[in-house]
Amino acid sequence: MDCDKCGDTAVSHAAYSGLHLCEEHLCASVEKRVRRRVREDNLLGRDATPEDPETWVIGLSGGKDSVVLTHILHETFAKDPRVELVALSIHEGIEGYRDESLDACRELTADRDLRHEVVSYDEEFDVRMDEVVEDDPKNMSACAYCGVFRRDVLSRYAADIGADKLLTGHNLDDEAETALMNFLEGDVRQIAQQFDASLGPFDGASSERTRGETEAFVPRAKPLRDVPEKEVALYARFEGLPAHITECPHAEEAYRGEIQQLLYDLEERHPGTRHSIMAGYEELAALAATEHRSEDPALDECEQCGSPTTGDRCRKCSLLDALEAV
Ligand SMILES: [Zn+2]
Ligand SMILES: [Zn+2]
Repeated sequence: MDCDKCGDTAVSHAAYSGLHLCEEHLCASVEKRVRRRVREDNLLGRDATPEDPETWVIGLSGGKDSVVLTHILHETFAKDPRVELVALSIHEGIEGYRDESLDACRELTADRDLRHEVVSYDEEFDVRMDEVVEDDPKNMSACAYCGVFRRDVLSRYAADIGADKLLTGHNLDDEAETALMNFLEGDVRQIAQQFDASLGPFDGASSERTRGETEAFVPRAKPLRDVPEKEVALYARFEGLPAHITECPHAEEAYRGEIQQLLYDLEERHPGTRHSIMAGYEELAALAATEHRSEDPALDECEQCGSPTTGDRCRKCSLLDALEAV
């Protein structure tokens, strides 16, 4: 097949759009979608100036998604003095696996002269995921512990350096899975909160979201969320980016795996399903957020670490206590 844009040999066919694209036009199309998302979400506040730039922290794991996001944002904003990019990688204490992906992160950021910080669970919490999965005091999946620790490190670090935004490399497949899982769990309040924290557009005038009272949190954004996983992988390959593709040895999220398979089958038979799930989900989540905002419980500070929480102690501190008691 030929590329629909230029007639060269097509390397990808997207059933949801019907488009056949060559290497060059596929890459251009991925970049265009990320830039459009940045624009439509008002990611760059209007009051950002060269004298007073915004700082964006990018969670860089070394996997293809965060590597592609970092590369495209760097291409887009390297010469724009209104934005400073900082890449942040986390070492979870997974021997071998994480060391290799950190090499990918270092190569990517060194080539681009991009500020790169690495923090570890070991230094932050005195825990290593390799040991957490052995002890497992809460009888949970590795990803459940790791997710709590990762969110804590990312948001605390972003707040410490005074970041305006925290960006993560979730792609369309990730987001459609999460949307479907949230919906099936039936927790509308959680849908509303996630919309406010990481999906809703910014108001354009500043780094605040439409919701104005979230000083304690660095707001999150996911500018890669319009791009399907397969196209992210092709982009990384064609651009020759140093992405580490091995899966985490502790990964086991049984429920997400089921949803993944379900979505894969649906998309095969009904191309465009992921896009329509996200379009509908974001619209409904916005309505839910408006409805729930007025009745949100006031957040307290965790009595152990000071993080915002609805109870006495945050989730991270209770997990750390459980691990210590083993
Ligand atoms: Zn082409
Ligand atoms: Zn705490």
